[in-house]
Amino acid sequence: MIRVRGLTKRFDGTAVLDGIDLDIADGERVVVIGPSGTGKSTLLRCLNFLDRPNAGTIEIGDVSVDAAKATKRDILALRRATSFVFQNYALFANKTAKENIMEALVTVHDRPRDEAERRALEVLGETGLAEKADSYPAALSGGQQQRVGIGRAMAIGADLMLFDEPTSALDPEWVGEVLDLMRRVAEQRQTMLIVTHEMQFAREIADRVVFMEGGRIVEEGPPQEVLEAPRDERLRRFLRRVS
Ligand code: ATP
Ligand code: MG
Repeated sequence: MIRVRGLTKRFDGTAVLDGIDLDIADGERVVVIGPSGTGKSTLLRCLNFLDRPNAGTIEIGDVSVDAAKATKRDILALRRATSFVFQNYALFANKTAKENIMEALVTVHDRPRDEAERRALEVLGETGLAEKADSYPAALSGGQQQRVGIGRAMAIGADLMLFDEPTSALDPEWVGEVLDLMRRVAEQRQTMLIVTHEMQFAREIADRVVFMEGGRIVEEGPPQEVLEAPRDERLRRFLRRVS
């Protein structure tokens, strides 16, 4: 169970997250939508302290953190409870696909190298990249690089997987294979919080869609309601633009 209360982030005095309350049940898939600059990435980044929130509380499984008083130990606990899939993959260029997946297992999760390697190879198999274990990112297509990015997040077995526009940097030809892999992750009842502009995918995969604007959650509910029968005028305007 994930429970976020009053999550607030200010940049230069401006509230980019303005008191976000969000509960996510185990195994739930939540998709976040909203206009550019509305705080979607900041929300994901604050949940694992890639950005440090100014206030609020975050509970993920057994981990409970008061943002204003977070210690190093709290931050490490949140990092261990989450995994992050970045828009630009964020792979280490000087590490192979296998080593990229091993990295966090060894450094953040204190796994022995041989165990991390076994897990990395297992995940590469699941992502259809067994043959690419020893390839460097530069030798992989965008779609393959992002599948490594997702594999790295899968390997951890985190309580919460965070995806920040995982397909928006991809050439259109690679989007499908990445969405397919995310569908497979979802089938494993992995708890997922996904920022995406892929509305068809959202409709299909989301248990709940959250619409953010101006650092707040303006409307949320099942995709049939939020996407097909939006109540808020700002949401209606947004959906007209993106669909
Ligand atoms: P997009 O759809 O374009 O990715 P977003 O909803 O993810 O947008 P965020 O990246 O969370 O938006 O940014 C929200 C606001 O916070 C924007 O106005 C942005 O300029 C501001 N912001 C984000 N990071 C910083 C930073 N490090 N320093 C100052 N302002 C920032
Ligand atoms: Mg963003």
